[in-house]
Amino acid sequence: MKISIAKLLNIIDISNSGFKHPLEDFFKKRQNNNLHFLIFIILSARTKDETTVVVCQRLFSKINTIDDILKTSQKEIQKLVYPVGFYKTKAKHLKLLAIILKNKFNSKIPDNIENLLTLPGVGRKTANLFVDLAFSKPGICVDTHVHRILNRIGYLNTNTTFETEMYLRNNLDKKYWGKINSSLVVYGQNICKPINPKCLICKINRYCSYYSTR
Ligand code: SF4
Repeated sequence: MKISIAKLLNIIDISNSGFKHPLEDFFKKRQNNNLHFLIFIILSARTKDETTVVVCQRLFSKINTIDDILKTSQKEIQKLVYPVGFYKTKAKHLKLLAIILKNKFNSKIPDNIENLLTLPGVGRKTANLFVDLAFSKPGICVDTHVHRILNRIGYLNTNTTFETEMYLRNNLDKKYWGKINSSLVVYGQNICKPINPKCLICKINRYCSYYSTR
């Protein structure tokens, strides 16, 4: 790759300025409730951002604490989180999550990836994003957008999101860890899409291996 990460993110951020970022807008309004952050990230998996925002607005009008989840039946939570993807499983995870947080973590959400990964519904992507957003701790949230774009441009050559995360952990300056997700997700949703990427209008196409070999 012939472009630095700093320059790459700078170009991408300028391109992204015309696009909506529903998650960022939502998070800005809820900076003081880490439980909401965590639930939002869990529900957003395999779900469109716009749907997650609507569902969470409804859910968070009733759920503000771990005890609120414990007092609400699983069936009721299912209704509240519908239609996010896998809503039945996610409702079950939220109930279990509340029980574990209360009993094992003294009603405090862990601030480290290792403990977060022991919670139901929390994978590496969720744990990394959560420590970054909630605690401003270093975390690299590698979702399909980050994995796809970095492989396409030729910054790395990996087969899984886990490999991508490990590569970035070893090679990327920590100051870009949080930023890389927010920038590449918006770019991946709008320009470097999974199918039919908009290469002709892409401002980084001159640096992109995928584009140069088409
Ligand atoms: S040139 Fe195409 S494949 Fe490469 S980053 Fe841009 S949109 Fe993605």
